Amino acid sequence: MTCKILYGQPVRDEILRKAKYNGVKGASLTIFQVGNNDASNVYVRNKTRVCAMAGVDVNVRHIKQNVLPPVFGSKVISTKGGILVQLPTGRKELDSIVNVIPYAQDVDCLSYVNYQNMLTAKKDATLMPCTVRGIIEMLSYYNIDVAGKGVTIVGRSKLVGEPLSVILSSMDATVTLCHSHTYNLSTYTKLADIVICAVGQPKLITGDMIKEGAVLIDVGINRDENNKLCGDISFDSCKDKAYAISPVPKGVGLTTTASVVYNLSVLQEGRI
Ligand code: NAD
Repeated sequence: MTCKILYGQPVRDEILRKAKYNGVKGASLTIFQVGNNDASNVYVRNKTRVCAMAGVDVNVRHIKQNVLPPVFGSKVISTKGGILVQLPTGRKELDSIVNVIPYAQDVDCLSYVNYQNMLTAKKDATLMPCTVRGIIEMLSYYNIDVAGKGVTIVGRSKLVGEPLSVILSSMDATVTLCHSHTYNLSTYTKLADIVICAVGQPKLITGDMIKEGAVLIDVGINRDENNKLCGDISFDSCKDKAYAISPVPKGVGLTTTASVVYNLSVLQEGRI
């Protein structure tokens, strides 16, 4: 079987086209970067680049790991336009500081109000976490219909797996959500028509864990033993069995950064 490669670039262009249609030129984004590690420097650079493509000004400010909410709040209060916090940071810390961001400026859709609104509106939500928006747009761009399909999502973070499970279920997929306590992961991945992996473990999913003709969406961004970028899915071991795979790099990552611009356009329009 010739495996189809689900490149992110045309999807990114389509997302940016929609953002421009909504109106985003002249918008601004402030990225509060937690710490200063290599991975987050790359994410910030990529987000800045895609914002520039859409005429959005980006301002990067640094905050300390474990910043206290009132301290973060004093920085947020003087900030106009969209705001996002660039991880890595622990989940507990994330929850406490994202709620300091006014919901009308919360680009990542992680604050309590925006997240709950998204869970309520489900597939019709105007604002979704950027990676979730990017994956939904990728499936739609490549005409991969999820209705009636078995979708196994591996990873249940608030950023990706948890919200994605709700959205895809509302699109009539039968969703299985796996995580680090899942016993015998391959039982669930083998059953799936579509496997979406967002774990952060290089090449966790191998060819023997998927069914013939599956669609594989790889969210993970890792370094392999040769320090080369790779996903959570072993591309080489799955490519002869899968119908389609999103590559890493050049896959979902591009759709996530474009969705930052899309979400800004939603906030700018006041459509939340
Ligand atoms: P996280 O650490 O918050 O969550 C990881 C999830 O994986 C958890 O739910 C955990 O239970 C689960 N998990 C861990 N080990 C597992 C295992 N062996 N089997 C099954 N489940 C397991 O991570 P995150 O923020 O969701 O990010 C996950 C990965 O996706 C990382 O590599 C990150 O860099 C990447 N990421 C990529 C994009 C993108 O745009 N491509 C966006 C966000 C995150």
